[in-house]
Amino acid sequence: MTDFSQKITTWYKKNKRDLPWRNTQDPYKIWLSEIILQQTRVEQGMSYYFAFTENYPTIKHLAKAPIGEVMKTWQGLGYYSRARNIYATANTVVNEHKSVFPTTYDEILKLKGIGPYTAAAIASFCYNEAQAVVDGNVYRVLSRVFGIDTPIDSTAGKKQFQQLATEVLNKKKPGLHNQAIMEFGALQCKPQNPDCEICPLNTDCVAFAEDRIGVLPVKEKKTKVRTRYFYYLLIEDAKKNTLLRKRTAKDIWTELFEFPMIESDKELKPEKAMNDPLLKKIAGKQKYSLTKISTVQKHQLSHQTLYAHFVHIKTDGTLEATDDFILTKMKDIKQFALPRLIDRYLFG
Ligand code: SF4
Repeated sequence: MTDFSQKITTWYKKNKRDLPWRNTQDPYKIWLSEIILQQTRVEQGMSYYFAFTENYPTIKHLAKAPIGEVMKTWQGLGYYSRARNIYATANTVVNEHKSVFPTTYDEILKLKGIGPYTAAAIASFCYNEAQAVVDGNVYRVLSRVFGIDTPIDSTAGKKQFQQLATEVLNKKKPGLHNQAIMEFGALQCKPQNPDCEICPLNTDCVAFAEDRIGVLPVKEKKTKVRTRYFYYLLIEDAKKNTLLRKRTAKDIWTELFEFPMIESDKELKPEKAMNDPLLKKIAGKQKYSLTKISTVQKHQLSHQTLYAHFVHIKTDGTLEATDDFILTKMKDIKQFALPRLIDRYLFG
């Protein structure tokens, strides 16, 4: 189809949303918006985009900020490795590129947390380099319009769609074309029940002609969901101190803070936490008692289902910081970057 690009860009000019990152060619802001919008809806991402660009107007401001503050600004957005990566990349750009964002696809791709999609978006939007973006929206549009049923999560599928995206790319206006196809996927060729009657591509679209919209694009693998059980020890001493630890392992929520926690892959009775060696070690010679157990708090992540209980415990002495735990006043907990599960339980 020769006029694919022309049709989607004409549609885009009429229908595009006025989004703040569309009014700039600053690679720093485009990069922030693209990272924030991965796995995140535009409505949710917007307030984070404003928070980041206000708190850190330039990449230097971001690189110089304390990591804890950056994590706090990210709090609630999920996929926290994105926040750690933007911090690492901001520091790389400042220290190794004299604070100037790289200007080519190949150089941008070398930065931490930036894959082919984001590199193509930045290179084409900011520098008009002819690199085709392929994200979930693009897979959907191309698979339907061209009637391709190669699974989009297979190696062959990724290659085939990247080649096709490059073939149909308008090489003179790659930035406009890329924005158009992504927006077309987001607003017109939606995952469920797209309004094909008003679609400018409906005379060319294979899926529409063959009534295959509901089965395209094809995915090969089903995501396995892991179930985990967390028992948080919310320990308060006689001076209203509590303990928190920073999650450092390669797992969910790295760099965020949480209460001492007992984890199990099977459901336990939450009262059993009172006999756990971790609590005994923390309490030492202090007497402690159970004051409350929360109802189960379910938290859904993309590949994990978490079930958490908060076990409230009072001690008659004074808690102490250790290598693993920091001591803080109960009233100061809000200042820490917390997983949404904990933040929601404590502060609603
Ligand atoms: S006709 Fe329907 S399925 Fe085909 S591109 Fe348009 S909205 Fe998508």
